[in-house]
Amino acid sequence: MARSSVIVIGAGVAGLSSALEIAERGIGVEIVERGRALGEGSCSWMAGGMLAPWCERATTEPEVAAWGASSIGWWAERFPETVLKGSLVVAQSRDAPELARFAARTERFEWVDGDRIAALEPDLAGRYRRALFFPDEAHLDPRRALAALAGQLQARGVAIRFGVELAPQDAQAEVVVDCRGLAARDALTDLRGVRGEMIVVRSPDVSLQRPVRMLHPRLPLYIVPRGNGLFMIGATMIESERRGPVSVRSAVELLNAAYALHPAFGEAEIVELGADLRPAFPDNLPQLRQSGRVLHANGLFRHGFLLAPTLAQRAADTVSSLLSSETNHADLHQRRRA
Ligand SMILES: Cc1cc2nc3c(=O)[nH]c(=O)nc-3n(C[C@H](O)[C@H](O)[C@H](O)COP(=O)(O)OP(=O)(O)OC[C@H]3O[C@@H](n4cnc5c(N)ncnc54)[C@H](O)[C@@H]3O)c2cc1C
Repeated sequence: MARSSVIVIGAGVAGLSSALEIAERGIGVEIVERGRALGEGSCSWMAGGMLAPWCERATTEPEVAAWGASSIGWWAERFPETVLKGSLVVAQSRDAPELARFAARTERFEWVDGDRIAALEPDLAGRYRRALFFPDEAHLDPRRALAALAGQLQARGVAIRFGVELAPQDAQAEVVVDCRGLAARDALTDLRGVRGEMIVVRSPDVSLQRPVRMLHPRLPLYIVPRGNGLFMIGATMIESERRGPVSVRSAVELLNAAYALHPAFGEAEIVELGADLRPAFPDNLPQLRQSGRVLHANGLFRHGFLLAPTLAQRAADTVSSLLSSETNHADLHQRRRA
């Protein structure tokens, strides 16, 4: 492989967004991906695609909202199909106290009554008396978003070499950005996998404009509309590194949630059941770690699409300064020899 300035390993959301940020700074970059096609073997393929910093604020560290807020503009600029219609949070009447608890832990929402819920989501008319509406949140179809990033990279002349497995230490480049997700555990020993399961259904009888979260004391779930009658129902969060298909228990719970949101989901077709392991550090926040000429960008946990833009910008800034210090070093070396 010819030596290029920067090699990014991994074409998940971390790798593609980092490569794009690097290319946008005018730096030569290429990507290697061991999967034979976009999404193959990538956790990013399983994501729901919610860009929901303030909903996440209710259950995660404040950094998630702080770093995630700017990602909505980042995606809207690079992926015009990003849907800017906010998100809705509901609870069954027996779980109503969950709604107040959720509201107390976050911001940037409005309490909405039954009429407003019906105006926002006509298919939910009469089903809930109160809900939380987060008008500034967004969502996207992760698979189409990844393809859009890949298209922009290719348009900038950035090669994505599929079917190539590479270890960071073997990469012939001045700087290596390691975006291997959970596969980077050989170098990042505190990285763990958190199992997530999801189901995609097709229901021409239900129409939703925006993601709907259903609060539940034990298993909060969400439904994200993907267009053309498709909905992603997600996601379990299990402290387990078991790979393999969705369990019956999880499938029942995910499908029950959809059915509880709207009985018409009872007639929906199951299109896909999927599971993967989210790469997470102990504090569940992403990190950029440097080890010589290798930068590890990892730990996106359940916030891959939400936090990848911030992580990518930080990675690209570090790449820039590493390359310019190398250039300065080489210039100095040449001047000394002259
Ligand atoms: C069910 C589910 C729902 C989720 N929902 C959301 C959501 O709604 N919003 C959100 O923001 N996030 C969500 N996430 C989290 C998100 O998917 C992850 O945080 C994100 O995908 C991690 O991205 P990554 O690029 O680090 O890893 P990955 O997507 O796994 O990418 C790593 C890539 O590196 C490649 N690779 C590995 N080793 C090598 C090697 N040696 N050489 C070459 N290539 C290699 C792999 O093939 C892979 O393509 C969800 C996750 C799951 C499982």
